[in-house]
Amino acid sequence: MSPISCQGATSITTFVIFLCDKIEPALRKAVFERTAKDIAEDMKSKFPDFRGNRANLEVCILRYLAEQENFAYFKQYLTSPKQFFQSYIEKQVKSHCLDESRRLRMFLHSCLESFYGNILSAVSLSTQIVKDRKDREDKISLWLDEFCGELAEVINLPRSDLKGIEHQEVTDIEFLSSAMAKALIDLTDRLMKELADADMSSFSRQPHTIADMSSFARQPHTILAEHFSGCWEKCPFCGAVCSNTMQNHDGDHQLVFHRPQALRGYTWWWTNHLVIDICSSLVASDCSFKFPGLPWIPFKTYRDAGPPFSTWRILPDSSMQAYWKWFVSRFRTQLEALYNGKFQGKGEIPDSWQRITKQEALSELERR
Ligand SMILES: [Zn+2]
Ligand SMILES: [Zn+2]
Repeated sequence: MSPISCQGATSITTFVIFLCDKIEPALRKAVFERTAKDIAEDMKSKFPDFRGNRANLEVCILRYLAEQENFAYFKQYLTSPKQFFQSYIEKQVKSHCLDESRRLRMFLHSCLESFYGNILSAVSLSTQIVKDRKDREDKISLWLDEFCGELAEVINLPRSDLKGIEHQEVTDIEFLSSAMAKALIDLTDRLMKELADADMSSFSRQPHTIADMSSFARQPHTILAEHFSGCWEKCPFCGAVCSNTMQNHDGDHQLVFHRPQALRGYTWWWTNHLVIDICSSLVASDCSFKFPGLPWIPFKTYRDAGPPFSTWRILPDSSMQAYWKWFVSRFRTQLEALYNGKFQGKGEIPDSWQRITKQEALSELERR
């Protein structure tokens, strides 16, 4: 080997090492970003829970709650519906990705493989374009322009970060291309091994292995949950969530099925008798309500109580879902203990409610 080509080889080695050092973190980041999106998409296409809108997901959650029949879960759902939705989604994503099938690893690997293909073809494309440009002295600079441009959609590799190598003395572009291809195999192999360890820790809050929480800048379940965002405002009487699919929407908050007010612990005045009526029946009644610091307000003119009441549109409607009749009957004791009240007097649970089976409650819910 002559001293000149030896110098050329050194330049190429320097170039390849520098470039691969820039590619590696960008590639790792891109793999996790894409994988998070892929997982979210996969969940949406495979799970009936996530195939529809939020109303559909809510039915699935209510079914899940009824199946679990655990009052503590109901309590979480009723007090913090948004958080409950999120943790429900997170749980489903984790069990889908981290079961024996090791789907997370599979997703990461196939994503890395496809990006590897993209980078490799960017190398050969840039080489093709540059090698015949006899007119250009700054072939390396031109090669880098092409390379970064080609990868713009795949990884974040700013051309300006590569200024340090753009003046390398490299004349043999074909040689550079094959050296890059070789280095990329090593780089990909290394990442593959790293991703093989991706497991629970990729989701956990504490960084653990190399592929940890910080690898997922946005978690797959967060991306999936965003699909089901919307207005989370709760009815001030029964706590059911506004059904508008827009956050900060115009107009009043609204929902179709209000729930017995006992779910929020409301009682009839001067008694500890829980209110089993729903808001949409009460707004058609002659009853009034009173909150601390407020005067008595007739339900018919509930908006006079000011916000949050005035921001809700509650239309008179006496239809109550069988689900909540079943729930109140089934968890009567727990509700009484929670709110220190009784289902007595005006809050006596009708016999007809007590005859509703869980299956009937669920069937009606799913017919909606
Ligand atoms: Zn309500
Ligand atoms: Zn709303």
